[in-house]
Amino acid sequence: MSSDGELIALDRAHVWRPYTSSEDHEQRRLFVVDRAEGPWLIAPDGGRILDASGSWWCNNLGHGHPRLREAIRRQSERLMHCTFAAATHEPAVRLAAELVEVAPAGLTRVFYSDDGSTSVEVALKIAFQYWQQNGRPARKRFLALPGAYHGDTLGAMSVGDVDEFTRVFKPLLFGVERPPQPIDGDWHPVFEHLIERLRHDAEQIAAVVVEPMVQGAAGMRMYPAELLRGLHEATRRADTFLIADEVFTGFGRTGRMWASGHAEITPDLLCTAKGLSGGMLPFAATLATDRVYDGFRGGKTRALMHGHTFYGNPLGASVAREVLAIYREEQVLEAARPKAQQLADRIRGMREIVGVTAPRALGMCAAFEVGKPGYMGTVGWRIAEQALELGAHLRPLGNTVYVVPPLNIGNADLDRLLDIVRESTERVLLSAQ
Ligand code: PMP
Repeated sequence: MSSDGELIALDRAHVWRPYTSSEDHEQRRLFVVDRAEGPWLIAPDGGRILDASGSWWCNNLGHGHPRLREAIRRQSERLMHCTFAAATHEPAVRLAAELVEVAPAGLTRVFYSDDGSTSVEVALKIAFQYWQQNGRPARKRFLALPGAYHGDTLGAMSVGDVDEFTRVFKPLLFGVERPPQPIDGDWHPVFEHLIERLRHDAEQIAAVVVEPMVQGAAGMRMYPAELLRGLHEATRRADTFLIADEVFTGFGRTGRMWASGHAEITPDLLCTAKGLSGGMLPFAATLATDRVYDGFRGGKTRALMHGHTFYGNPLGASVAREVLAIYREEQVLEAARPKAQQLADRIRGMREIVGVTAPRALGMCAAFEVGKPGYMGTVGWRIAEQALELGAHLRPLGNTVYVVPPLNIGNADLDRLLDIVRESTERVLLSAQ
């Protein structure tokens, strides 16, 4: 077996690391993961750390869930992948029916893709094409929220608004309208602005795109369900589409199966990835209503000319089916409720530490601030370094420190993780006083 040192040297020599400057890549400590179990990432020497960021927010059922491993093994012996061109297979078909069953009522069609970004690209293209071929070709514009993040491909970046990700690409992106940032955490003017635009310019708007309830990459920013409900109603009055990007919020992360459920709405298009495969495989889907689907009937020239090589991949679909079975049979959402309470209580308690502000939680997602907001904040990173010493892997968003553990994390592990978050935060903030 290779030593950690050799792997790290090869990583530094040959891997182009996402979201990381070359200098950071060369200097920052790396944890070599050999295997993973539940909330634990395990090094080759057996050392273990708690995965507080859910491996980029996707690991909802813990690492290496035995049923998910088994589902992949079983499927791999029959069919790993094959074309979906004039062919079909059981995993993708049954999964589509099962997703429709658990989706907000009225979402009846499933379009598969590979990751969160592609699921958003698909939703944008569907909304755009729908109006082009259904008598309202002036509907070309998208409305989105300030601070939105929908992925790193060009369309997803266009609807996104995290400057650090999009700045350099601005000339390549299509124009998207969005209200100014909320002031002092008040989202009412933001939503009023969108509703006003829908009232006056409905005939130009193809869709409104939102991350429902929680904006992840913007810094785990949360807004009330009533605002989402009001926006949904405004899209009904304007007779245009609402796209819910549930890539992060879906599969119970916010306490309900879908964050749209907090507002009791059915979006016209819903994007899901990450937790869809339990965070095991790249796999995604865009769900649509009958109305949307029916807008593509009427011959070859009206078809959605979009698809990916691994459309409906049998391994991804099988593991997603098993994820749904686990949610049903292990009552994952119900069982997570007391854990979410424990998480919320302890994160709110962080307020006692001087320098911690805005502690907040929704479901199994909790965050607080340790300095000026924004990606370039460095205090969060210092806390992450301390946490690594203490045995947890945090992935702060600048000065936003957050915890998104598996929904089925054990109570003792959750307590331990929150102890580490507290201690590492105290170490950094108290030493600054
Ligand atoms: N939408 C949201 C809300 C996300 O949080 C993310 C990823 N963090 C994406 C889309 C993009 O997903 P992916 O990284 O799988 O392309």
